[in-house]
Amino acid sequence: MSALTPPPEMTVSEHADAYGHLITGTGRSRRWKTREPQRAILDAFDQPEIHEINVIKSSRFGWSSILMQAMDYFISHDPSKILMVQPRGKDAEEWSKEQVQPTIDASKILSSLVPKQRQGGSGNTIDNKEYPGGPLRLRASNSPDGFRRYDARVAMNDEVDAYPMSAGKEGDVISLIYSRVQDSWNYIVANGSTPTEEDISLIARLVADSSTGYPFLRCPHCGDPHIRTFEIPGEENQPIIIRGEEQPVSPLIWDDGAPETACYVCPSCGGQITQKHHAKMMDSCFWVGEHWEYIDRKFKFLPGFRARMGFAGIWAGYVVSPNTTPANIADRWERDAKSPESKKAAVNTMLGRVWREPGEEIRSDALYRRREPFAADVPIGAVYLSMGIDVQGNRWEFEVVGWGSGEESWSVDYQIVAGDPSQEDDWWEILRPYLLDTYRHESGIDIPISVVGIDHGFLGKRVDAFVKRMATTSVMAFKGVGSEGVPFVESAEARLRRLRRQKASRSRPEILGDHEAKLTVLKRLAVKEPGPGYCHIPDDRDRSWFEQLTAEKLVTKYRHMRPYREWVMLQPRNEALDCRKMAYAAMLLASPDLNASLGESISMGSQSKQNRRVRNRGLR
Ligand SMILES: [Zn+2]
Repeated sequence: MSALTPPPEMTVSEHADAYGHLITGTGRSRRWKTREPQRAILDAFDQPEIHEINVIKSSRFGWSSILMQAMDYFISHDPSKILMVQPRGKDAEEWSKEQVQPTIDASKILSSLVPKQRQGGSGNTIDNKEYPGGPLRLRASNSPDGFRRYDARVAMNDEVDAYPMSAGKEGDVISLIYSRVQDSWNYIVANGSTPTEEDISLIARLVADSSTGYPFLRCPHCGDPHIRTFEIPGEENQPIIIRGEEQPVSPLIWDDGAPETACYVCPSCGGQITQKHHAKMMDSCFWVGEHWEYIDRKFKFLPGFRARMGFAGIWAGYVVSPNTTPANIADRWERDAKSPESKKAAVNTMLGRVWREPGEEIRSDALYRRREPFAADVPIGAVYLSMGIDVQGNRWEFEVVGWGSGEESWSVDYQIVAGDPSQEDDWWEILRPYLLDTYRHESGIDIPISVVGIDHGFLGKRVDAFVKRMATTSVMAFKGVGSEGVPFVESAEARLRRLRRQKASRSRPEILGDHEAKLTVLKRLAVKEPGPGYCHIPDDRDRSWFEQLTAEKLVTKYRHMRPYREWVMLQPRNEALDCRKMAYAAMLLASPDLNASLGESISMGSQSKQNRRVRNRGLR
C-alpha cells in the first residue's frame, strides 16, 4: 500500500475478520471470527466519539483476543503508539510471549512490520515492539516509572483490579496512564478486568462513571429483545435500568438440585430458550447504552454522550457465552455456591459481577457504635495484660489489651508517644516507664503488663537493643512474615529449631505470620456478642482508631482468571491494627492460662514456664 493512499475505511471488527488471528490456549493460531456480541466492543476502538472503553470481563469473554485484534489494527491499519499495561512484570512478560508475539507471528502483515525477534536485537524485545508509527510498549502497573517517559495514543490496561491502589506520589496508576495518552487528540484508553469486591473494584468504579450498555438478544419464539441475566438465588436482584426504564430480562431458571432442567425464559412470551437456540440468538445481538446504541453494526450517539465519559460494556459472562450450556451454568453454580470462597469466585469470574460482602463485614462505624463504659481501667473479665508497640519515624504507638477466658479481650489503653525512635536513650527514658506501668483492675488491685510485643520491621537494631536492655521483663520483638500459611506465632518446636539455627546471629526476632494475624484480629472483631473472642472497646476511644483497626481488607483478585488473595489498604494508616497484632502475638507466645483467676494469672506472669522459656532463650 502506498503511503499516499489512505487506508480503506474499515471498522476494527471488519479488519479483524479480514486479517485477524486468534491464539488458542495451546498456543496455536487460527483465523479470527468476531462473535456478534464482541463486535460493539471491537468497533468502539475506532469511534472518534469514544475515548474510553471500560469492560467488566467474565471468563469466556475473549477480552485478551479483543485486545489482540485492536493491537493488530493499531499496528497495521492505523499505526499508533501503544501502551499495554499488565498488573506485574511477570504478567507483562507472559502476555508478551503468549499473546503479543504469537499474534505478530501468525500474521503476514504484522510480521512484515515488526522486526524479527533476535537475541540481543533491538526493535523487538519482550517489552518493546517497533513498527512504523510505533512502538508498542509493555509495562507493569506496579513499576509506574516504566511508563512515565512514554507517550502513546492507545493504552490497553488489562486486569485493572489487580493494579496497586496507589502509585505513591503519582496518585493512582490509571490516572498516571491517562496522563501519558491525553496529549493525543484521538486517544483511546481501554480498561478491562475481572471485578473484585464492591468497595474496592476499580473496574466497577470506571464502569459506573461511564455510559453503560448491555447486549440484547432476540427471543427465538416471539422476536422480542431482552437482556440475558443470572439472578443469584436468595438475593434481591437489581433491575437493569437504561434511560430511566427497567429493561426486560430473561433469567436462567432451573429446579433445585436438577441443573439439567435449566433454561432461559422469555419475558415477553414465556417461551423456553435452550442451547439449540443459542447460535441464532447470538447473531441477533445488539447493544443499547445510556447515551449510545450499536445496532446493525453501527454506533449511534445520543445527546448527552461525552467522549470523556466513556463507553462501558457489561458482559453477562457465561450466560452469553456460546460454549456454555444452561445446564453447565446451573451445575457449576450449584457446586460453587456451597462455599463462600468459591461462590465469590463464581460471581466474579462466571458472572462478571462485583462481589457484595454479606452483612458480617467489619465496618469501622459499626465497631464505633459498640463502645462501652469500662467500670475500671481493667474490667473484671480480664485476667492478663499484654502490650503491643508499633514504631514510627517520630513516635511510638501502643495498645494495652486485657485478656480473659476464650481470648475475650478489652482494649485497656491506647497511646501515642512522641519521641525519636532512632535514639537509643529515647527508648529507655520515654518508653520504658509505660512498660513498667500498672493498671487498676475492677477488683481493686493494680496489675502489671505481663508481656510486650514490639514490631521489629522498622529500626530493627534499636528494637533489639531495647529488648536486650529490658531483659528482665518479657519484651519480644516480632518480625512480620507476609505469606499465607505462616501461623500467627510459631509452635514451641518450630521456634526452638529456628533459634538453634540462628544461634550465631545477633538479632533473632520472633516470627509473626502477618496474614494469619490480620485474619485472626478481623475474625475477633466480627464476633458480635460478648463472650469468647469478643473485643470490648472503651467509650473514650476516638474514631480514627476504629478506622485504623479496620484499615486492611483481604480481597480476592484475578490475573487472567487465576484467583489470588491480597490485603488491600482501605485507608493509609493502620497503626492501631499493628499494635493489636503485636499485643495479640505476645500473649499467644506467652500462652498464659486465661481461665485462671486473676491472682493466679498475675503470679504466673512472672513465674510461668512459658515466660521462663521465652526469657531464657530469645531475649537475653
Ligand atoms: Zn419470546
